[in-house]
Amino acid sequence: MTSRRAAGISGWVGAGLTDIGRVRGSNQDAFAVLNSLGVWIVADGMGGHAGGDVASRLAVDAVVRTIQASPLAVTATPNVARPDPGTLREALEQAVAAANQTIFHEAGRQEDLAGMGTTLVILHLTREPVPIATIAHVGDSRAYRFRRDALTQLTEDHAVVDEYRRQGLMSSAEAKRHPLRNALSRAVGTDPHVQPDIASFSVDPEDLFLLCTDGLTKMLEDDDIVSILRTPRPPQHLCATLVEAANQRGGEDNVTVVVVTRPTPSP
Ligand code: CA
Repeated sequence: MTSRRAAGISGWVGAGLTDIGRVRGSNQDAFAVLNSLGVWIVADGMGGHAGGDVASRLAVDAVVRTIQASPLAVTATPNVARPDPGTLREALEQAVAAANQTIFHEAGRQEDLAGMGTTLVILHLTREPVPIATIAHVGDSRAYRFRRDALTQLTEDHAVVDEYRRQGLMSSAEAKRHPLRNALSRAVGTDPHVQPDIASFSVDPEDLFLLCTDGLTKMLEDDDIVSILRTPRPPQHLCATLVEAANQRGGEDNVTVVVVTRPTPSP
């Protein structure tokens, strides 16, 4: 199987879409698609009237700037060796730290932004022949892998109820209904330092990756997402269908999705 390389040096191409939803007065989500670097980012801001959308935008911009100045930008060019795992991990940690510092600093400078923060999920894919997916995340925005009709969540939510659930103090059903279900146990920008979870995964050429905010996963069950992703369509079409489905179910929150696939050759 051959692939078209026009999509970017990693061989993978992503598209993203964000929507205010049907209920909220502003969109506090943000995303970035860096196909040429093999990097995709989603953030879901929180705090105050203005803070949420400021925090998510600051986070995404800081991650983009940091990665563009990192060894990942060099190793994304042809004939340069892929980043070793240590370099990759360090670049992602620095990107999250830069986002954290920027938001924490701004929140301390402007009273109306005090306490703002954001989730952050970053996907990096190394190029062929043996691609590796590495994901850094903080908060409850998620990364999924869709492989042979199976949807696998690759991130564990940093949410208070999920910490309870992991400790056996609460069932999944109780966690979904709990008044604290939206409270994060870890966020970017609310404290001087934050530790992201970083993990790497093997990749099949047919894999599809989905990054999303909770505006998608609160409205749709896994089966709904599977039924949309199993129809082979370009990433931008899948994004539009996912957002539309979340809105049809009520659109109770802002919804943001990024879909990354390896383009198949034209017949
Ligand atoms: Ca949200």
